[in-house]
Amino acid sequence: MRIILLGPPGSGKGTQAQLLVQRYGIVQLSTGEMLRAAVAAGTPVGLKAKEIMASGGLVPDDIVVGIISDRIDQPDAKHGFILDGFPRTVPQAEALDELLKHKHMKLDAVIELRVNESALLNRVETRVAQMRERGEEVRVDDTPEVLTKRLASYRSQTEPLIHYYSERRKLSTIDGMMAIDEVTRAIHRQLLALGAIEPRTHAKSAAKAGPAKKAAKKPAKSAKKAAKSAKSTKKAVNGAKKTAKKMVKKAAKKAVKKGAKKAAKKVTKKRAKR
Ligand code: AMP
Repeated sequence: MRIILLGPPGSGKGTQAQLLVQRYGIVQLSTGEMLRAAVAAGTPVGLKAKEIMASGGLVPDDIVVGIISDRIDQPDAKHGFILDGFPRTVPQAEALDELLKHKHMKLDAVIELRVNESALLNRVETRVAQMRERGEEVRVDDTPEVLTKRLASYRSQTEPLIHYYSERRKLSTIDGMMAIDEVTRAIHRQLLALGAIEPRTHAKSAAKAGPAKKAAKKPAKSAKKAAKSAKSTKKAVNGAKKTAKKMVKKAAKKAVKKGAKKAAKKVTKKRAKR
């Protein structure tokens, strides 16, 4: 399953993405997270992105497209992924289309979380307060001023994607103002309706439970097999030991016989000489 989560900062994309990861066993590809990691590691990409991110602007398209392209190629993304924070502009969406086409992959759905903008500031303030309480590091761009800029850039550069994906019949809009679990259920219903998931994955963690059961059966089978083959190996070893013992006994008997014959011959020769 390959989906995009679309929504302004503070709309709950990250939270929903994590819940989807747990439920369907796919990976979350968040360009914001990857860029923050690059900034922390001081990589060339991080150095380029640092100031732009701190001021609430958008990192150049070629950088984020490159990051996503590399990440999609990694083995853990083979079963599917949720794009969180990417694409953020129409050129990024076009680049993604090209990229997926080239990799022979299909996008299943674009889920838009629609929220009331006046509530976003409150949400971000709550998030920051909770992070401080937990002693976690707070993002430099989680301030009311930077958030206002990020919202403006969402409106002007990202919102056109709603039209882009609805034209391509990929868009599903969900009320992001509902409680977290209600939003999760609504996303699940949409994914079912679009055929992006099988009905049996309805049970929580069914995707995980399926392969896990199989995996649990496998060791049992292979354990039996291993025990069987261990038994037959023991038999074979015992058999070989017996045969080897017999052969040694025979060889010893032969050697004794040969030695006795030689000794007898020597005695006869000596007697003859005398
Ligand atoms: P996020 O965690 O998604 O809110 O992203 C944090 C910041 O990273 C954004 O404000 C941008 O500066 C940058 N960023 C993340 N994703 C993208 C993207 N797809 N295109 C451009 N800039 C991005």
